[in-house]
Order: sequence, then C-alpha cells, then structure tokens
Amino acid sequence: MNYVIKDDLCIACSSCVDACPMDAIKESEVFVIDQSLCVACGACADSCPMDAIVKEGESDPKPVKKRSFLQKLFMK
Ligand code: SF4
Ligand code: SF4
Repeated sequence: MNYVIKDDLCIACSSCVDACPMDAIKESEVFVIDQSLCVACGACADSCPMDAIVKEGESDPKPVKKRSFLQKLFMK
C-alpha cells in the first residue's frame, strides 16, 4: 500500500522528511514521496502533525489530531 501526501493539508513543516528512513520524501513545489524508495513503513504518516500523509485510497484525516495541533499553534 503506497503512502501519499495530500497537498491541501500539508503545511510544509518537513517533519516527514526528517522521519523517513529511506530519504524518500522530496520537496519541490510540494512535498512528494518517491515511490521507488518508499518501503511503506508509515513513519512519515506518524510524524505528520496535519495527518496529511495517508495510505493511497484512504483519504480521511483524523480530525482530533489535526485539531489538537492547531490548538497548540494558536492557543499559546
Ligand atoms: S512510508 Fe516510510 S519509507 Fe515511505 S515515505 Fe514514509 S517514512 Fe519514508
Ligand atoms: S509532515 Fe505533514 S505537514 Fe509536514 S511537510 Fe510532511 S506532509 Fe507536510
């Protein structure tokens, strides 16, 4: 199962780039996963504060995680 990055949720924080053991996530205009390098470990998805990385075909982000991240950002 491939992981993909949803551009509309990504805030370009680079957490996923740091988390990827295969160096498979590249930043060009948007962050993209090089599927030829990805081993589908899920580390990037776990590291993403916006739940912007999902298994292909699973497009529903987890709203609770996203909300708590936004609260941390704006309720300081
Ligand atoms: S699933 Fe694993 S190997 Fe693939 S891009 Fe994410 S962190 Fe890298
Ligand atoms: S961790 Fe998530 S929000 Fe941050 S750059 Fe990667 S996909 Fe975008």
